[in-house]
Amino acid sequence: MAHVWQSFRRIRWIVLHETGGSPHESPSDLAARLAEWPLYHWLIYPDGRIVKCAPPSRLLYHVTDHNVGTLSFAVVGNYKSREPTSALVTALEDLIGYVRASLIPGIESIIGHGEIDRTVDCPGKWWRAWLREYRARVGTSEARQKRAGMAVYPVTYRDPTVVKVES
Ligand SMILES: [Zn+2]
Repeated sequence: MAHVWQSFRRIRWIVLHETGGSPHESPSDLAARLAEWPLYHWLIYPDGRIVKCAPPSRLLYHVTDHNVGTLSFAVVGNYKSREPTSALVTALEDLIGYVRASLIPGIESIIGHGEIDRTVDCPGKWWRAWLREYRARVGTSEARQKRAGMAVYPVTYRDPTVVKVES
């Protein structure tokens, strides 16, 4: 099937998923397990490793009705009852900061898959509080931040080390 592309300028939100399996599941194992692949633009592992699975301009089918205008990030593992490592959370925040500051400044912020589609429990329970806390701490786009009288970007982040396994 031919790849479908979307304009960087239309991308507004990052959607956060969890892979729901082993925290060490490799991209090739995920590709074998999931019906749709790549399902995520980036994977973030518990040891802080970040893997790029598809260019951000490639349209992926990861969330009902909101594939256009979104990027797909997935934390690797099952967080229904366990907490992520701090290395994973730091890597995720670095990646969001990098994407917003260096690639796609039009991104507002990050939203959980389950916040868009109430029928899915994704990402797991622990992430709901993190998503609220992160958005409150970092805010949405610069224009909105200015209107709201909030501190403006750039937030501090480290340049993430990204391993590319584009298909
Ligand atoms: Zn999901």
